[in-house]
Amino acid sequence: MPITTMPRPISSELVTLRLLNARMDLSEHDQWNYAKLEKGLEGELKFDLLTDGLVNNGIVIKGLLLEVNDSEFQIDTTLIFEGIIHLFDVKNYENDYYYENGKLYSKNGNILTDPLLQRERCESLFLRLLKNLGFNFRVESRLVFINPEFTLMQAPRDYPIIYPTQVNRLMKQLNEIPSRLTKMHENLARKLISLHKPVSSNMKLPAYEFEQLKKMIMCKLCYLLSTTVEGNFIVCKTCGHKELVDAAVLRSVRELIILFPGIRITTSLVYEWCGRVIHKKRISRILRRNYTRYGHGKYSYYQ
Ligand SMILES: [Zn+2]
Repeated sequence: MPITTMPRPISSELVTLRLLNARMDLSEHDQWNYAKLEKGLEGELKFDLLTDGLVNNGIVIKGLLLEVNDSEFQIDTTLIFEGIIHLFDVKNYENDYYYENGKLYSKNGNILTDPLLQRERCESLFLRLLKNLGFNFRVESRLVFINPEFTLMQAPRDYPIIYPTQVNRLMKQLNEIPSRLTKMHENLARKLISLHKPVSSNMKLPAYEFEQLKKMIMCKLCYLLSTTVEGNFIVCKTCGHKELVDAAVLRSVRELIILFPGIRITTSLVYEWCGRVIHKKRISRILRRNYTRYGHGKYSYYQ
């Protein structure tokens, strides 16, 4: 059975854009970037379902953001076997693309950043990192197109990608790699995870301020600002999702901390952020239970 080391981390860029998309009007470009990140994550989660089903002895690391010699790189899935490490870059492209002179074009003529170049860069940086850490492994990296609606025309026969129709065969191959793990493999996995950067240095976020953002409790499930308070619950008018008020308030506090690192969490601030629909007394009680209070009266804040 493969060891899965951690749930797939969601990039802070995506987390922040989700929050901003609900609370302000994103520019067309930010909207495009946001949609691209959501779509990418959806593809990665689909690939996770497959690697979760592997039965071979291996270690699966989902989502790594690493840095070596000031160069940042991302690996969607890392599979460590006894003598080889497989790296996967998962693409969730949909519709028809065609290949010409080493580039991919979508039907409307847009050129995509060459995913193969990206893959090569990633592989060589990963090899350098392994060397720096004192590990010696064979590394193979591949691009996986996971979306069944993806077609690539005119690609050369040896174009090194995995098509949606080949994904199941890939899993079969991975299951057949002879592999016995030792402490050394675990150490490597632990080391890589410890090097995972929680925040990318290449985040593309719009500028925003507290005053300009819409205030209300966001639905945990559909990320829309369409909730109402019903007794002990926050209920989404769009998707019907129900969440306990306490949990929703704490989630909203975490949103504030993500969007405004270092901000002073006060009862009034949270009251405002949640759209003034929850009693200050109740907010204050929730904060007291879950955070430490500093200061007194109207000058008190929580950490
Ligand atoms: Zn909802």
